Amino acid sequence: MIDIRDFRRYAHEFADWMADYLEHIEQYPVKSQVQPHEIFDKLPDHPPEGGETMDVIMKDFQDIILPGVTHWQSPSFFAYFPANSSYPSVLAEMLTATLGAQCMVWETSPAAAELEEKMMNWLKEMTGLPAAWDGVIQDTASTATLCAILTARERFSDFKINEEGFGDFIGLRVYCSTETHSSIEKDVKIAGLGRRNLVKVRVDDLYRLDPAALEEAIMKDRAAGLKPLCVIATIGTTGSTAIDPIRDIGRLCHKHHLWLHIDAALAGTALILPEYRWMSDGIELADSFVFNPHKWMFTNFDSSAYFVKDRESLIRTFEILPEYLKSRSRGLVNDYRDWGVALGRRFRALKLWFVIRNFGVNGIQDKIRCHLSLAKNLESKILNEKDFELMVPVLLNTVCFRFKPADCHDDDDRLNALNEELLNRLNRTGQMYLSHTKLKGKYTIRMVTSQTSVEQRHVNQAWELIKTTARSL
Ligand code: PLP
Repeated sequence: MIDIRDFRRYAHEFADWMADYLEHIEQYPVKSQVQPHEIFDKLPDHPPEGGETMDVIMKDFQDIILPGVTHWQSPSFFAYFPANSSYPSVLAEMLTATLGAQCMVWETSPAAAELEEKMMNWLKEMTGLPAAWDGVIQDTASTATLCAILTARERFSDFKINEEGFGDFIGLRVYCSTETHSSIEKDVKIAGLGRRNLVKVRVDDLYRLDPAALEEAIMKDRAAGLKPLCVIATIGTTGSTAIDPIRDIGRLCHKHHLWLHIDAALAGTALILPEYRWMSDGIELADSFVFNPHKWMFTNFDSSAYFVKDRESLIRTFEILPEYLKSRSRGLVNDYRDWGVALGRRFRALKLWFVIRNFGVNGIQDKIRCHLSLAKNLESKILNEKDFELMVPVLLNTVCFRFKPADCHDDDDRLNALNEELLNRLNRTGQMYLSHTKLKGKYTIRMVTSQTSVEQRHVNQAWELIKTTARSL
């Protein structure tokens, strides 16, 4: 193993490699072009008996691993939702890795706990969440929503399910829209509620949950002796960034005594813009809320900000206190191990601190506005082309469209196959990475203009290639 002198030397070399990589990232194919098992087969079947030099390991990283990496930080990465990073975030991650602190309770790193508390307050203020709420960093939105469902479950059962198991508490119902992210279904399974107790409510023409359909479903379930538990509303659905009507849904939740959790995994970042605050109108009626700075707020994965109205219920749901974790500071400070599933915790607040301080709120706002205008600009380009169809008006950073040539206008099966082929051909060029969804059964190409360093020229280049490739099919 290397010693401290070598460590210093390699740290400098690696820092140069990192800067070179980020500076020249456009030279790499955005989507990895390797075949299944290609990387696996290049790796030895057995671990080395003796240690290997850092030079050899680094060479293999570049020759074997890098070709199998999809370059999420490329400005031509338009797929899924982004997992953004930024220079201040990467620098903070270097420090976090160097400290190697495991921040399960306050005592195991007071700065981690206190910086986390402060960062959650900053984010609350930046996004306009109610001041009285409390926040905690989770790894992902999937985990945060699981915490919400578990807390709703425990509060509903007066914490009996944690103690005794489900007993008579069967038929606990969770409601979301047909456009809700798949993580909700997974969370319902993990929470032991049973996938069949997830009710997917219909959406309107803009893919927003229909509150009338929600109330109908709740009443029907009550009449059938089932137990309505909670609603998951989305600000910014994965398919098309639809915004569920939070105030209407919140009123229904109050009327019927249901927990309201809001999943704003991507779009929560846009709440930093005053002109997008309308999306969270009625937020005070919610019980919990999650958004991912690791998606659109330039902070390395993983960083998911979870906020709750009633912190006592959250803590009571997860708290467990073995002798070896008892400390004298208990009760005086936040021990975040009690605020979620995992005991061990990374020092995740540090990168948020670096990002928010180095960008400043104005800097974050400027970048988000730039991404939003790129999407709007692309929307108008698509509307100008007769052989392309915009699938839904652009609300945020996600442009949903399909190629629709005159000769197969009404044939959705052919259009689906054609657009799937178009997407695959584009991704094979390595010049961009796009992903898809289906909207009303129609294969839809999604282009998300939110990579940290994306500029107008990247969107223009991509759009030109999309048009020429489509027309050559
Ligand atoms: N919710 C929405 C709306 C999403 O778009 C996603 C992922 O894209 C998730 C939840 C899951 O996010 P995570 O990977 O943080 O669990």
